[in-house]
Amino acid sequence: MSTPSPARLRQRIIRLLAETPATDIHTHLFSPAFGSLLLRGIDDLLTYHYLIAEFFRWHQHLDYDVFFSLPREAQAAAVWQTLFLDHSPLSESSRGLLTSLHTLRCPLRSRNLDKLRAFFAQLSPSEHVDLCMRAVNIDTLVMTNNPFDPAERACWERGVPDDPRFRTALRIDNLLTAWPAAAQDLRTMGFRASAELSPSTRSAIRSFLLAWINRIKPLYLMASLPPTFSLPSPDPGARILTDIVLPLLRERNLVMALMIGVERQVNPALRLAGDSIGRMNINTLVHLARSFPTNKFLVTILSRENQHELCVVARKFRNLMPFGCWWFLNSPFFIEELTRMRLEWLGLTFIPQHSDARVLDQIIYKWLHTKQILAEILTQKYATIEATGWKVSNDDLRRDISDLLRNNFWRFLE
Ligand SMILES: [Zn+2]
Repeated sequence: MSTPSPARLRQRIIRLLAETPATDIHTHLFSPAFGSLLLRGIDDLLTYHYLIAEFFRWHQHLDYDVFFSLPREAQAAAVWQTLFLDHSPLSESSRGLLTSLHTLRCPLRSRNLDKLRAFFAQLSPSEHVDLCMRAVNIDTLVMTNNPFDPAERACWERGVPDDPRFRTALRIDNLLTAWPAAAQDLRTMGFRASAELSPSTRSAIRSFLLAWINRIKPLYLMASLPPTFSLPSPDPGARILTDIVLPLLRERNLVMALMIGVERQVNPALRLAGDSIGRMNINTLVHLARSFPTNKFLVTILSRENQHELCVVARKFRNLMPFGCWWFLNSPFFIEELTRMRLEWLGLTFIPQHSDARVLDQIIYKWLHTKQILAEILTQKYATIEATGWKVSNDDLRRDISDLLRNNFWRFLE
């Protein structure tokens, strides 16, 4: 009997991971029609908040506001100098930047920032999108669309042409975490909401949601929530979710995505880089999944300490779909751990990754680094079943990898 060769198996898996299109189910990217909201290229990459946080660790005496008052190019040059020239770029965010630039064939060897700028200056936004999507075989980028953001709202009100490369997701954090301030926002947008969750305010919230669902046709609704968000609860955000949002999503057959565990602005001076982390109580998810069995929830949690609980709860409730290795978990160490654990406890019924990219070029490293880890884990796992005499065909591999990279997501939305 011939022994299966792990080296050949690994090659088949690497090839299929590259050939199979992936859907990036959560990004902060925008189609080129949104103009300056689409961040891309070297200056946006260097001023990404992950790198800003790392930059300040080398500068104990630099005033935050002084740095943030510099023009973007000067901020980028300072980050380049500190994190790439004065020290080696070994953190995941700085290594990731090199992976993206290398894959795009940017001139890296000279370490010259102006040459990198010249490389990106010759790309139109649309060419740039194509280049990055092709580099990692992404079929769809799902945006995060926030009607509470005046700059984005202005784009929608002007009208945004469809771009087949991009899909929408409606972000409603403000309704769930910032009531009653959000009531004022709704009034600004023409919906007659008051601070009290009276019948007329409830109907205004519902009208607001319906108007935006009809306007942007989201694949799902989403909210990023603090670790303290809990259910059941008399808090207005919890009541808006359970009494208004979830029944409406049920009617419209739409999924709710929950990203739980962000402790906002623990260091406000760091601005976007100032958010931190906290552990959630998993019973909130149990309550949600059990009380709303006909609603579906995409779920990602920020704290490593919640990950095993999420796997177990997803085994109990098929209406929960764990997705991605989010933010502080998006590094090889944690991607490896989470993916292994999910595969061992959920089989192939989860969504291993999303990029969360804020800058277009980041999709490259986020997906390449994940695929390198997936290749190793899948090779080991398939080798263990082949060792029992179970033959794994190329069709089996193709089907399973497609499920992980895209089909589990699209099927969950049906
Ligand atoms: Zn995000």
